Amino acid sequence: MSHEAYDVVVIGGGISGLSYAYYSLKKGMRVAVVERGSLGGKIRTVNMGGSITEAGPEEIVDGPAIRGLISELGLGDRVIAPSASRFYLLYDGGRLVEVPEGVAAGVPRPSPGLLRAFLWGPLGPLDLFRAMLEPFKRPELGEDPSGHDLLSGLFGEGITSGLFETIIGNIYGGSLRRMSSEVYFPYILGPKKRGDSVLLRYMKGMASFGLLSFRDGLSELVKAIVNAINGLGVKAFEGTSVMQVKRDGEAFRVITASGALEAKRVAIATPVHEAVHFMPDYSEHLSWISRMIERTKVAVVNLAYEKGSLKDSRASGFLSSPASFGLSGCTFMENKWRRGGGSCIIRCFVPYSYFTPGGSALAERASGLLSGLGLVDGKPYAYDVSNFTYAIPIYRPGFRPASRWTISGLPPTLVPLGEFLGTTGIYSSISYALTRTQAGSEPKGSP
Ligand SMILES: Cc1cc2nc3c(=O)[nH]c(=O)nc-3n(C[C@H](O)[C@H](O)[C@H](O)COP(=O)(O)OP(=O)(O)OC[C@H]3O[C@@H](n4cnc5c(N)ncnc54)[C@H](O)[C@@H]3O)c2cc1C
Repeated sequence: MSHEAYDVVVIGGGISGLSYAYYSLKKGMRVAVVERGSLGGKIRTVNMGGSITEAGPEEIVDGPAIRGLISELGLGDRVIAPSASRFYLLYDGGRLVEVPEGVAAGVPRPSPGLLRAFLWGPLGPLDLFRAMLEPFKRPELGEDPSGHDLLSGLFGEGITSGLFETIIGNIYGGSLRRMSSEVYFPYILGPKKRGDSVLLRYMKGMASFGLLSFRDGLSELVKAIVNAINGLGVKAFEGTSVMQVKRDGEAFRVITASGALEAKRVAIATPVHEAVHFMPDYSEHLSWISRMIERTKVAVVNLAYEKGSLKDSRASGFLSSPASFGLSGCTFMENKWRRGGGSCIIRCFVPYSYFTPGGSALAERASGLLSGLGLVDGKPYAYDVSNFTYAIPIYRPGFRPASRWTISGLPPTLVPLGEFLGTTGIYSSISYALTRTQAGSEPKGSP
């Protein structure tokens, strides 16, 4: 690897970097991807006792960008949807409460089931009444209110702390009070600013979410993109760390332990706190972005039980308030995804503040909680614990990284992607990479 020249060098081979590489190659560019670990980044599917489970993300929000990619990659017949999400459980101060079809995989859907959950579940009828007043509410919404201010202003404090905090705690491991509505709830903030009712739009199905995965897990998507980019002539350097990116006239030199690459454009698909180290020339601007993005830590604990250990054969999992329970959510993989397999895998999601890292201790605690709740018989025969750092943009009025083409102080030929910007979620990573490679989004003078 010495002094090879590319149109684009992508740093970081997670889903953001891989999809950006794919869309750039399709435009005929010469592309290299440099990845410190293995391609796929946080996406890692593991096989435990013949059953498929995810060590990282579990599902993708459905929508046009992922459907387009799936069809281009020929993965259409590999897609699966969650099958048992009608039976979610919310944990409330030691009590498991069945939430009928109202909450599907963490996303509340308007349905009779959700309404019933209000009436006899952890929330009360008064909370429901307050939430139903949303169409009449016109709160003062600043440019970018925190998620908590937005949701409690519209739906009331009860539903915000009892339902949304639980869901968000599960999905992002972060607090609503520190999350930007502009980034996380554009589908609520936007309509409300225009004077629309969020509830009525939701009821009409305008904001519905579907979720998907693949028969062999999310790694199947990674493998398909890697095959596609290989076919399009990418140069991929796996197990290679970028040590420095230096400006070289109008171009860049990307320096790694095994040589240097010349690039007209560099796409940064690593979290910003990593980029601070290899881009010292831009440290001032990067530290500024870094201060706007919070990093939370989560662990995913996969517990493998003998087949049939799960006492409730219909349950697909539960969400809990991490503050009261320590686990923010569990998925019963086999029931939810119906892939079949040899074991019963229970996947638990643990925010960092609730555990002291240590694989076996964490697995023991999670399995103790599950059997304490009466959900499983016996002990797990194997476990897998993965720790992750999440990047989440925190609430700062005026900071809208994902909607900007350039960040002030960075040349337009440095393209920030995914977690560099605090973008969370596979869907947003792919759709952002796609948008950045579409005609009209190219900065002048770029390749
Ligand atoms: C536990 C967990 C559960 C999640 N669940 C979901 C879910 O169900 N659905 C969903 O949509 N999203 C989920 N997410 C979020 C989703 O995983 C991320 O948004 C997405 O995977 C980020 O992709 P990325 O490519 O931006 O970053 P990453 O996957 O983090 O990729 C960045 C890459 O950069 C590499 N890198 C870093 N520094 C260097 C360097 N110096 N040189 C070379 N390479 C470098 C890293 O090794 C890494 O591979 C979850 C995240 C976690 C942690």
